[in-house]
Amino acid sequence: MSFKHFVRDSWLTASYYTGLSQLYQALRGRKRGIVCYHNVLPISTLPPFDTYNVDATAAVFDKQLAFLKKHFRVLPIQELDNSDKPGFFLTVDDGMRNNHEILAPILAQHDLTALFAVCPAMIDGELPHIWRDHLFLLFHQANDIKWLPDGITHSYTGVNALTRAIKKYVYQHQIADVYGLVREICEKNDWLYAPYTDDPLRYQFMDWDQVRDLHNLGHRIAAHTMTHRVLRFLSADEKRYELAESKKQIENQLNSAVDTLVYPYGSMAEIDQATVNMAEEVGYQTALMNVQQHSLQKPAFTHPRFAFPPIADSPHLHGIVSGYKFLFRVA
Ligand SMILES: [Zn+2]
Repeated sequence: MSFKHFVRDSWLTASYYTGLSQLYQALRGRKRGIVCYHNVLPISTLPPFDTYNVDATAAVFDKQLAFLKKHFRVLPIQELDNSDKPGFFLTVDDGMRNNHEILAPILAQHDLTALFAVCPAMIDGELPHIWRDHLFLLFHQANDIKWLPDGITHSYTGVNALTRAIKKYVYQHQIADVYGLVREICEKNDWLYAPYTDDPLRYQFMDWDQVRDLHNLGHRIAAHTMTHRVLRFLSADEKRYELAESKKQIENQLNSAVDTLVYPYGSMAEIDQATVNMAEEVGYQTALMNVQQHSLQKPAFTHPRFAFPPIADSPHLHGIVSGYKFLFRVA
């Protein structure tokens, strides 16, 4: 740990136990917030290769929920559109199998409900994985890499760094057909373009029965686009397809209206004003991003969210929820 982190962490701990961060929360902190989760896994420690920091162990998730309930008000997800009420909401992205089998039962123990954002093309098995997960899994299994896109070399230390380099390539070249790129990487390396079958809780998607079950348990289902591509790089027609078709297919499966969109990735690198406008145009009432500050118009379609790192200690969690931690940004 760096000295700067040590100073910040000590300060957060002292502030928490002296009541200073609670005071900050009362005076200036967040009164309302939306927390973003992805995967909750029945393991005691996370593997060292969690590329995107989106996994939590079941024990840590349980402690984080207990923390939120103790210090703040966690509201039923059906009240998400009631924008005046102070409190916090829980959301879960991507629709992996652990959501139904591990995460939802822990929510039930705490008597909480959440919003689950799912991609119909993934549930229907039209694509084996979200492209970034797929690249990570392909590199992870590869004995030898014969071909990579222009400008990308093997000289990265580890699979995480190589996956990040490809992600950077996709963003630099604004690649709309990102699944075409994954297929090309597979073909040129003689790798099978197929789902990875180990660790189904982490890497396989829920089926429609499981999604319907969550809906029937009082959770809310949101669209997360059809294929989880980067919306900013898509044409107007492709944007419309991703947003409208996912809404329609989930509505048909649930026999119930879907009025919430969760943008994939959710930062300014992935969402432009045209995307936000399209969300309204195709009939959503609410859309959620992942950042706190942005320059987009239409507040109902750019709700911020925040995520917890996979930790359970109260001083840090309190610092994140209140916004207090962000007063002490360290590089
Ligand atoms: Zn996602």
